[in-house]
Amino acid sequence: MPTARNAEFAHAFAVRLMQHLVVPTFVLDAERKVIIWNKACERLTGVPAAEVLGTRNHWQAFYEAPRHCLADILALGRTDELETLYVAHSEPGESAHGLKAETWCVMPRVKKRLYLAVDAGPIYDEDGNLLAVVETLRDNTEQKLAQMALHSLAVKDGLTGLANRRSFDERLEADWLHSIREQAPISLLLIDVDHFKLYNDTYGHQKGDTCLKEVAAAMTTQVFRPADLAARYGGEEFAVIMPNTDLDGALRVADRIREAVEDLNLPHSASQTTDRVTLSAGAASAVPTDDQTPVDLIAAADAALYRAKHAGRNRVLGAELVAAE
Ligand code: GH3
Ligand code: MG
Ligand code: MG
Repeated sequence: MPTARNAEFAHAFAVRLMQHLVVPTFVLDAERKVIIWNKACERLTGVPAAEVLGTRNHWQAFYEAPRHCLADILALGRTDELETLYVAHSEPGESAHGLKAETWCVMPRVKKRLYLAVDAGPIYDEDGNLLAVVETLRDNTEQKLAQMALHSLAVKDGLTGLANRRSFDERLEADWLHSIREQAPISLLLIDVDHFKLYNDTYGHQKGDTCLKEVAAAMTTQVFRPADLAARYGGEEFAVIMPNTDLDGALRVADRIREAVEDLNLPHSASQTTDRVTLSAGAASAVPTDDQTPVDLIAAADAALYRAKHAGRNRVLGAELVAAE
């Protein structure tokens, strides 16, 4: 028979165990009030237990504005909030066994932006009533930053920071299929710096690289719709994919890019077009049919670019991709 003294000891021991657990942990009761806030949680958040025990203010340790933590979501059964509140989360279907989620936290007290991986587990009594929810936290900031850096290396061009050729290919394929499904127009720009070989010959390859960076930066100021993608297509050639955009719209964007680069006023004394760096662009647009491919769109934009070069450079020409008879 457990004596009262034994039970007291067991309770004190359990609380002590929780408090000294190396994993940052807090516990909410069924009313979502904090009943345990362990030492590791104090160290991670900079918030002492005395400040949060008995309150529902635990969110203040992680966020600047009131919002639910994972333990609240579990206690309230509000798994519909997971999608908007977390960068990643487990399938909420099995929430009786707990929830997992990850997100960026501002950590107002320690003033450090951290990427936390959190688990929330329910504790039930013998009758299945919720007694408490335990939330454990893991600081995954370093792993997340490393993962983001790797992702960036895989999808971005190292020199200009634009999307790389692989991302371009993947996106064009995806946007093309979407355009077929929606029967919506899709446009593509191919952009090529004028007389760039002469630029390198005159100013050297290093300056050539700097010039490409500036051209890319000027380009991105004119490509601001979230659905559009500006990419480095290769060497001194760039591309812009514009879903839901017809030829007129594409030509307007192309001309804005052309102007933005001209306005950079980068000297190019050897250019046979003007005395500064300019570019030519070819635009192609289609409401794609099943028998056309993205390669047809690229070929049409390339042909338009070729015509722009031969018509004197520093200009934009375009063509509609017509369906085969
Ligand atoms: P056009 O007006 O007909 O386009 O003339 P162009 O000289 O620009 O044409 P071409 O395509 O023959 O030359 C492109 C040049 O771009 C050749 C190459 O040395 C240079 N280039 C390609 N990639 C890079 C790069 O990453 N950095 C530098 N500095 N130059 C590059
Ligand atoms: Mg070229
Ligand atoms: Mg060129």
